[in-house]
Amino acid sequence: MAYQPSPGRYSFMEYRRCGNSGLKLPALSLGLWHNFGRQDDYERCKSILHTAFDCGITHVDLANNYGPPAGSAEETFGKILKDDFKAYRDEMIISTKAGWPMWPGPYGDFGSKKYLMASLDQSLKRTGLNYFDIFYHHRPDPETPIEETMATLHQIVQQGKALYVGISSYSPEQTKEAIKVLNYLGTPMLIHQPKFSMLVRDAEKGLLDTLDKSGVGCITFSSLAQGILTDRYLNGIPEDSRAASRRGNGALDANVITEELIGRIQQLNGLAEGRGQTLAQMALAWVLKDKRITSVIIGASKPEQVLDSAQCLRNYNFSEDELRQIDAILG
Ligand code: NDP
Repeated sequence: MAYQPSPGRYSFMEYRRCGNSGLKLPALSLGLWHNFGRQDDYERCKSILHTAFDCGITHVDLANNYGPPAGSAEETFGKILKDDFKAYRDEMIISTKAGWPMWPGPYGDFGSKKYLMASLDQSLKRTGLNYFDIFYHHRPDPETPIEETMATLHQIVQQGKALYVGISSYSPEQTKEAIKVLNYLGTPMLIHQPKFSMLVRDAEKGLLDTLDKSGVGCITFSSLAQGILTDRYLNGIPEDSRAASRRGNGALDANVITEELIGRIQQLNGLAEGRGQTLAQMALAWVLKDKRITSVIIGASKPEQVLDSAQCLRNYNFSEDELRQIDAILG
């Protein structure tokens, strides 16, 4: 039977304005880095996307290299879009990125105009979209002048291939420079996508302030630390987990899950229980407590995880004491 979205899909989600722009994003977005590749079960992929949209998660985050193999997450999404979401395209914000290695030779990586333009055209073809809502430069390029990369983002908007542009994993200094160039060109930067979680807090060292002062939104990734900040690894490494999957492409490695780390995670889990939350909910709430955060991109391997994570919105307030306890547990 054809997918019918829930009529109540906008009743629960919170939508936050993205910097000074006109665009609002759901507090939770869905990322397709893993679990949407060619090897993944298509019906399950569909079910995760249906569940997310039914929860009011209107934003789907992609990149050219998501899979595996690279490109296959965009293909999977394109198929599901055609099957189930065609009528809802205007209710969705779909992003993609380029910046990591995609094809051999000097034109398939980093931030040249040659690479970004070709990659975006490939992403449009794989997804079957006419345009992306957001196109990102995925990581800073130490060699290409930032003026060339930003002028390419500007041109992409001028051409109508993306409505907005952003950057990912740029330092505060690189971000300031990129914002300056884009402002000069007349295409303001919409958003920055950093890694940010209770375990990885670099964004607190200048980046969040820079974005806030510049009116640029912030959407975080790996805020569940690829599953470490959930109940997944409390009692060992489950067979169906990402850490056991050997998927490659940056996926969580089982070696990272040490006894010492799990000891801390168990303490965090106790704290989450005391708040009446699962650990995943507390980890997401911890990020969303900061009003400078526009959205958190969650990953999920099952629809139930999306439902569980969405409940974080019921309580993202923390007492001073709870925050102190979290800091003490994580050292
Ligand atoms: P998370 O940190 O959200 O980890 C997702 C994993 O956590 C899931 O696959 C699942 O693990 C587990 N999980 C999720 N929800 C729950 C739950 N409620 N209870 C128990 N376990 C849960 O995300 P990702 O690291 O996958 O990143 C999210 C997105 O961010 C990506 O898809 C991508 O869009 C973006 N991203 C961007 C990057 C960039 O450079 N800009 C880099 C990396 C990600 P399991 O699979 O074991 O079930």
